Amino acid sequence: MAKAPLARARTTPATLNPRAGFPKGVPPRAIGPFLARTHIAYFSMELAVRSEMHTYCGGLGLLAGDTARACADLEIPVVFVTMLSRLGYLRQEIDRDGQQVELPDRWDPRSWCQRLPTMVTLEIEGRSVRVRPWLTILKGPKGFQVPILLLDTDVDGNSEEDRTLTDSLYGGDATYQLKQEIILGLGGLRVLRALGFDIHTYHMNEGHASLLTLDLLNESRTAPRKSGPRRTPYNIPGVRRQCVFTTHTPVKAGHHRYGYDLFKRLLPGEIDLAALKSLAGKDRLNLTLLGMNLSDYVNGVSRQHAETTRQMFPRQRIHAVTNGVHVATWTHPAFAKLYDSRFPRWRQEPEVLVRALHLADSEVWDCHQVTKQELLERILQASGTAFDPEALTIGFARRMTAYKRPLLLFEDTGRLAELASQRRFQVVLAGKAHPRDKAGKEAIRRIHELARELDGKVSCVFLPNYDMEWAKALVAGCDVWLNTPLPPMEASGTSGIKAALNGGLNLSVLDGWWAEGCIEGVNGWSIAHTEGKDSDRRDAATLYDQLEKVVLPCYYTETGRWCSMMKQSIANVGSYFTSQRMLRQYAADAYLH
Ligand SMILES: *Cc1c(COP(=O)(O)O)cnc(C)c1O
Repeated sequence: MAKAPLARARTTPATLNPRAGFPKGVPPRAIGPFLARTHIAYFSMELAVRSEMHTYCGGLGLLAGDTARACADLEIPVVFVTMLSRLGYLRQEIDRDGQQVELPDRWDPRSWCQRLPTMVTLEIEGRSVRVRPWLTILKGPKGFQVPILLLDTDVDGNSEEDRTLTDSLYGGDATYQLKQEIILGLGGLRVLRALGFDIHTYHMNEGHASLLTLDLLNESRTAPRKSGPRRTPYNIPGVRRQCVFTTHTPVKAGHHRYGYDLFKRLLPGEIDLAALKSLAGKDRLNLTLLGMNLSDYVNGVSRQHAETTRQMFPRQRIHAVTNGVHVATWTHPAFAKLYDSRFPRWRQEPEVLVRALHLADSEVWDCHQVTKQELLERILQASGTAFDPEALTIGFARRMTAYKRPLLLFEDTGRLAELASQRRFQVVLAGKAHPRDKAGKEAIRRIHELARELDGKVSCVFLPNYDMEWAKALVAGCDVWLNTPLPPMEASGTSGIKAALNGGLNLSVLDGWWAEGCIEGVNGWSIAHTEGKDSDRRDAATLYDQLEKVVLPCYYTETGRWCSMMKQSIANVGSYFTSQRMLRQYAADAYLH
């Protein structure tokens, strides 16, 4: 296949004069300070920079955002690449029947980002598609800056259809999604080159970014080895040395796969198809497999998830880097003030939170009352429901999808009401369902129905439009953070970690990070899972037993013990499951190897 192998050759760097073409553009000078020191690029389809920028959907995007924030704290030079997602993921409203209504979630990039005067061109489906980056910068506590590039195809010269390709996060059909993956992977890589970055390590956060390897493969042929005509011309070890891959998906069906016909239609001649099939799957294009096969370092996001991934991909060497959260972002100001006064360096070095056991019971209890009161006021405002500040408050908020079992708590509403008649508790729920996730949407409708049924017995409120702002309020203000995934589906999960940083106690199925973090009765509680038919019913019974016999009595009759558990939660979970620890691990094991 005789074809120009160099991505650089197909790239049009800085094609437009900033003054002429981009009245609001800034000189590429904005990127200058980053070029010499930055040799690592992190690619993610979604990335939660701030709540006003609707460039995220759930845990994957929050993880990417927290990773960027940790880079700013630890002064690790990484450039991040994501999509502009002008219409966001979705804005959720709930109609009278409890059905999710999905609206565009538009945001204005000009408020938070600068448009860079650079453009690259991709050939997709026989058309030239221009991709332009926007830049936003995260600043660390000492001023260290981390650049985030957001890719945009709403550019003059693109067809109407192509202009919408960077609108909707996870929107559209398979064709739209594969085009987005082409833009993220190939577009992102070429934008970095056009801006002048010299990247040595490409970190792909999930398979959405894997197509960047196509350019790397093509480049690797520029120095072909004299190894005979029958050997692949691509220098695969050379590509692998440049790539790091993190997988988040715990089941085979979760891995995006495309027909090769679609791929050939969108990217004809991009790559030797036989070679691609040997890397990405014989019958269908599996982007996870492609990323894994072309990365020297591959990891799952918890120890258990790494083990599950090894069973799914037995030929791969899978490391484990357990996810963490950015402590300064997820700690409520009331707790942050307490930590500032006792552990001055906790933001940069969250390990010191291990000394939380030295705090007085009254200190953590009082802080939590502040965060709880604030949450209850917000719930009142949003829903009209007045929660009882004295009553145990249970929170469940995350993407609404079947494997997270949002209805498990309501498996036996009779038992639930009976429990609440003995010792009061109230439940707050939130979460969006993907527009095509029927089960997730049905769960939202059913929760509303059940909340009406339980009215007067158990207060249940569903808050619409779960986002970063709601997450902050909820993880800080709930007494108990509930998670009921079907193992091993929760690759890691992170919201329970956020709760722990604020003295929240986790009550969860032992899956993902909690399988590592839980010390039964010390920093939270488990919900035993049993395999087999009717497992939901049995797991729910275990959950009710834990509430009845352990959690509710502890809350109402052993305040001292509860406070001690809050401190253990901060000390054990908050000191270890942090994005700083996670990033140091990536830096030592994946970036610097
Ligand atoms: C932390 C967070 C998540 C991830 O929560 P999980 O418990 O890991 O599912 C999702 N959405 C938002 C807004 C978050 O802040």
